Amino acid sequence: MHEWTIGESLVRQAMEVVQTRARGQGRVVRTTVVAGRLRQIVPELLQDIYRLLVRGTSLDGSILDVRVAPVTIRCCRCACQEALGSPTVFRCPHCRSGDVELVGGRELFLESVEVEADPPTDSV
Ligand SMILES: [Zn+2]
Repeated sequence: MHEWTIGESLVRQAMEVVQTRARGQGRVVRTTVVAGRLRQIVPELLQDIYRLLVRGTSLDGSILDVRVAPVTIRCCRCACQEALGSPTVFRCPHCRSGDVELVGGRELFLESVEVEADPPTDSV
């Protein structure tokens, strides 16, 4: 269950952001995480773990948004960049070349911590 480890790390990062930037002021309403599809994270599970982990902390009551980023490849032959619908075959959808580079799908990072009265575009 790697969601638990991920959850702990996210909560720790979010709490650091709150402490350094918001100086403990304002209520955290939303935390957004970007998880590449290859990470195979179950958003609902991560959200449940998040709720457990933030209980009694400065993040208590906030919700976790999980944005799943698509698997994206860049073709070394025709230089196109494409998000793959079903990432089972790593081939260029245009020229069918297998000489591709993975440029998206493995990412995992805390995108933003939204504090009440902060604009939603407030990113890390
Ligand atoms: Zn190509």
